[in-house]
Amino acid sequence: MATKLNKRSVVIVGGGLTAALVARQLTAKGTDVLVLERGVDRRKAAEAKIPNQRDELRWDIRGGLGQDWAVETYTVRHSRNEDALPARRLGAFLPGEGLGGAASHWNGFTWRWSEYDPTLRTRFETRYGKSAIPADLLIQDWGVTYAEMEPHHHLFEKLFGISGKAGNINGKIQSGGNPFEAPRRDDYPQPPVQPTEAGLIFKGACEKLGYKPFIAPSGNSSGTYTNPDGMKLGQCQYCGHCERFICEAQAKATPDALLYPVLFQRKNFEIRLQCRVLGVDYDREAKRVLGVRYVDLITGEEYEQPADVVVLAAFTMSNTRFLLMGGIGAPYNPATGEGVVGKNFCIRPIRRSISSSGIAGSIRSSPAAAPASASTNSTTTISIIPVSDSLAAAESVPISRTGVPSAVGACRRGRRVGARNGRKRMPPGTPTRSRSKFKARAIRIARTISISIRSTMTSMVSRWCASPSIGATTI
Ligand SMILES: Cc1cc2nc3c(=O)[nH]c(=O)nc-3n(C[C@H](O)[C@H](O)[C@H](O)COP(=O)(O)OP(=O)(O)OC[C@H]3O[C@@H](n4cnc5c(N)ncnc54)[C@H](O)[C@@H]3O)c2cc1C
Ligand code: SF4
Repeated sequence: MATKLNKRSVVIVGGGLTAALVARQLTAKGTDVLVLERGVDRRKAAEAKIPNQRDELRWDIRGGLGQDWAVETYTVRHSRNEDALPARRLGAFLPGEGLGGAASHWNGFTWRWSEYDPTLRTRFETRYGKSAIPADLLIQDWGVTYAEMEPHHHLFEKLFGISGKAGNINGKIQSGGNPFEAPRRDDYPQPPVQPTEAGLIFKGACEKLGYKPFIAPSGNSSGTYTNPDGMKLGQCQYCGHCERFICEAQAKATPDALLYPVLFQRKNFEIRLQCRVLGVDYDREAKRVLGVRYVDLITGEEYEQPADVVVLAAFTMSNTRFLLMGGIGAPYNPATGEGVVGKNFCIRPIRRSISSSGIAGSIRSSPAAAPASASTNSTTTISIIPVSDSLAAAESVPISRTGVPSAVGACRRGRRVGARNGRKRMPPGTPTRSRSKFKARAIRIARTISISIRSTMTSMVSRWCASPSIGATTI
């Protein structure tokens, strides 16, 4: 039998990045906030200190800082006719666990949305006509504009001491930055991080091809920094143990380093660690949430925690599950297209755009489909944006059937094409018509190889030389 606790004003499920940002705003206004987090606080634990911090097997290969798939997982099916089975190993989809959630060990790439991302449907329709968007494409405007979101991007960047070089300040293109970025009110709070050797090679190669490389904005501190809340970051040591690791140098902008310490000082904030929320109680008639039920993982005791407001901040997949299990909102039905809960949920779909002037790109995060419901807020796309920014995205094709990028696959594809090309080399003296056909084919092949090399390089740069998020982009 669960013990019923006293009612709280706001209960937040999950103690990651979203929860910390929400709690920061609410507690500043005097609102009482309780966070329930299933994991622990690792800030002073061995995983945050040398030598254990460098344990690649434990933190990187085995993903030791994230959700333990042996204990709790999601089920997966590839079509509605299949039985859903538990996933025990998930590539890029790595929900976090513990104070700070996934962002406690994230990489730190911090892109803003493009100006047209929140109004993509309108933009395509205006440019190409309504019929250009197929009926089954779920793209839609978000209901907010970039201009409305800009102050929030600005605040986040100041709080997280983002290192970068602006490409567009109030509409004026800045040299050395991303010329396609949305207008910003000022430069990043810190200069960009230093490129590593691989980053410099990448930069040189891009410049030779006529592109404009720039250093990606990142939450890896290029210097020492104090944020508006008085929280400090040290300088990045370029240790290379960044993504999937806790930064032992206090140089990575994370919620546990920058947001929670401030919250802990506030009397109207409480966090209960090692408390797993089991479900949200919902009064269907009154259409009101009553509170949550959770189990204390140390004692095994179950509790009912009433609340005026419940904020789901347990990461998109779990938030959607809580809504579905609680009978809150209309579940999305892919057969009829009705309902919103669970609609458009996706992680890192890839689109590849080819412009008439060839392929070039800034690899960046952007929303592929507009959020239609609470379950879509983390939709992330890596796009290759054409040089001319000509919105060739309308011609986008997925890189792989599953939509999952593979640098290795891309590389292999390039080699195979190259080998075929070698076998069919035209001997000197071949008639011109065949030569021009051959030339056209050679150009196609070269383009394919170019995509392959570029996507491989980008992956390599972002993964290997840019552990502290260095220079992964070209335009
Ligand atoms: C290795 C890695 C690298 C990344 N790199 C980048 C990057 O470079 N740039 C970028 O923009 N994004 C990056 N991300 C993604 C980014 O970190 C996440 O999108 C972001 O942290 C999500 O924040 P969140 O608060 O919504 O969810 P989370 O951070 O996942 O927090 C959710 C919290 O809820 C808790 N929780 C879940 N279920 C329950 C429950 N039932 N009861 C109680 N608590 C629960 C979890 O333990 C977790 O702490 C990266 C993620 C990972 C894992
Ligand atoms: S690369 Fe820099 S930010 Fe990343 S963990 Fe190392 S010191 Fe910290």
